[in-house]
Amino acid sequence: MSVSSAARKVAEQGAVGFQNLVGGRWQPASDGRTLDMVSPSDGEAFATIARGTKQDVDAAVKAARQALDEGAWGKLTAVERGRLMMKLGEAILAHHEELAQLEARDCGKPMKQARADITAAARYFEFYGAAADKVHGETIPFLDGYMVTILREPKGVTGHIIPWNYPAQMFGRSLAPALAMGNAVVMKPAEDACVAPMRMAQLAQDVGFPPGALNVVTGLGEEAGAALASHPGISFMSFTGSPEVGTLVQKAAAENHIGCTLELGGKSPQIVFEDADFDAVVPVVVNAIVQNGGQTCSAGSRVLVQKSIHDRFVTAVKARFSLLRVGSHAMDLDCGPLISANQKKRVLGFIEQAKKDGVPVLAEAQVADGTPAGGFYVAPVLFGPVPRDNALACEEVFGPVLSIIPFEDEADAIKLANSTDYGLVAGIWTRDGGRQMRVAKKMHCGQVFVNGYGAGGGIELPFGGVKKSGHGREKGMEALHEFSQTKTIVFKHG
Ligand code: NAD
Repeated sequence: MSVSSAARKVAEQGAVGFQNLVGGRWQPASDGRTLDMVSPSDGEAFATIARGTKQDVDAAVKAARQALDEGAWGKLTAVERGRLMMKLGEAILAHHEELAQLEARDCGKPMKQARADITAAARYFEFYGAAADKVHGETIPFLDGYMVTILREPKGVTGHIIPWNYPAQMFGRSLAPALAMGNAVVMKPAEDACVAPMRMAQLAQDVGFPPGALNVVTGLGEEAGAALASHPGISFMSFTGSPEVGTLVQKAAAENHIGCTLELGGKSPQIVFEDADFDAVVPVVVNAIVQNGGQTCSAGSRVLVQKSIHDRFVTAVKARFSLLRVGSHAMDLDCGPLISANQKKRVLGFIEQAKKDGVPVLAEAQVADGTPAGGFYVAPVLFGPVPRDNALACEEVFGPVLSIIPFEDEADAIKLANSTDYGLVAGIWTRDGGRQMRVAKKMHCGQVFVNGYGAGGGIELPFGGVKKSGHGREKGMEALHEFSQTKTIVFKHG
């Protein structure tokens, strides 16, 4: 087994080392290799995970199949599955602070954000646990002498590839609806951050999930991730991450003739009309870009402002932006570091290019004194007016960079909002009820907030995108349909 020096240091410090969960057993990667988990707050390794292989993925998929066909999982009733899931929700809440500390250290996110994320993770298991026995089949009126029943069945073994920005929440968001519908799941979390999900998988074991119901193989995307996406034993894939990898996952799904949901990020607009409630808008637009360091698929990264209020609005946002403070997860300020040195380089690349392009900087926040050296910090930047064809107006930065773009009137705002390749979420700020409806209906995206904005929020609310943001719906009762399929049974009774 090859263990790196950082991993040895981790072991000496008594820090955590996580193995794969396959068929109810914790086991190292088939070749014994591990990966270091680095905290973005200080750049120090603090845990190890298994560098899962194709063989590990194969074993996990087979264990999941067995759990469905021969094991206890496939025999549980919907209410029994729901009870187990509710117990997991309770266990997550019972370990709330421990999980929040792990999540914060792993992702660098401020503690208050990590705590909210753990509450949300528990809520996914509560919501879908309670829903497990409430998705019913149907009977259909057919020809005389017939009875037709529609069963709603699990898809089978579902594969889940999740990103690093909200690992704890994604564990719940991706797995809970699949488990509620009776699928057996295999998850490949992100190599950049996945420690809290691993701890939650341990809790799932503790509360009694049968062997093989919930399997986790950690490792690199191009190794374990690619092996999972292309495995012929997978019946459905759920992927959240970059559009590039989403394309690979969809191609692999096509080869295996299965479906997939893709959630690939966005360039979400918030449209501020001249009659908007100014005091309500300003804190929300600022928070919607600094939450999680802007590394949120539904971050409100474009603020479209009606020209008649542009200057007054900019003054108010600038004032708030300049007060933002960046620091480590433990300092618990407005914004933490970005996930990795790579992500920092990528985001700084956008900022430098925009400056070279002559886009005016309206405000820059500060990294607070006492922030640990070695962390991946980027202070939030407010740009504006951003030309409509500049990269900052069109591309997903995935960092704390906010673009202000002026518009003329309602028609111009709609055109501008829909002008990017993405379509995930939109925000509309106006007191005019007719305009709220008109503009909401015209948005090319999966979710619209009126006089509010909830980046990432709402377990009960169907969520997902159009265009380059992906397809399929997660969250809410919609997700239960994605993870199940109908079977039509036709009885001829004469
Ligand atoms: P990514 O798409 O590479 O990683 C997401 C997940 O996919 C991880 O678990 C990773 O291990 C896995 N993966 C990577 N390559 C794979 C492959 N060939 N086959 C199967 N799985 C694979 O994302 P990233 O590189 O971590 O981030 C890059 C950009 O993606 C970000 O800057 C951001 O724009 C976007 N992103 C979006 C979201 C979102 O919530 N929509 C989340 C993370 C990243």
